[in-house]
Amino acid sequence: LERSLVIIKPDGYRRGLTGEVLRRIEAKGYTIAKLQVTEATRDQLDAHYAEHEGKPFYEPLVEFMSSGPIVVAVIEGNDCIKGFRSLAGATNPTEAAPGSIRGDLGRDWGLKVQQNIVHGSDSTESAEREIAIWF
Ligand code: ATP
Repeated sequence: LERSLVIIKPDGYRRGLTGEVLRRIEAKGYTIAKLQVTEATRDQLDAHYAEHEGKPFYEPLVEFMSSGPIVVAVIEGNDCIKGFRSLAGATNPTEAAPGSIRGDLGRDWGLKVQQNIVHGSDSTESAEREIAIWF
């Protein structure tokens, strides 16, 4: 059984998409093992996005992720890391396939950072690392 860390980002929470995102996760057959609404601290975001530090979108990303409540979840299921990334769609919501969360619900807002509704871990190592940051 695999675990993944999912975040509903401030844009998703603000737009009232929490239920829709959780519905898609459950409809896919994954279990929601942990769930909380929280506000990210700078330390949590620096740890979570360490691989992006120094990139031009880093400060806008941290600012955006601090702009309001987020929903953090641990989901469980066979191959759920890859599976959730498939549910989420491509990073750029303009390019994300219809049928995916970002493809159906997201768009480019012309900002310095992609406001793309959700985050999902990209490997078993990052899932365990990220779960330790948020739970
Ligand atoms: P996530 O990790 O959030 O699931 P991802 O793996 O598709 O998305 P990453 O490459 O890990 O994307 O980037 C983390 C986040 O940084 C993205 O979700 C997006 O909000 C933002 N981001 C990434 N690349 C860019 C970019 N080129 N321009 C603006 N924002 C970006």
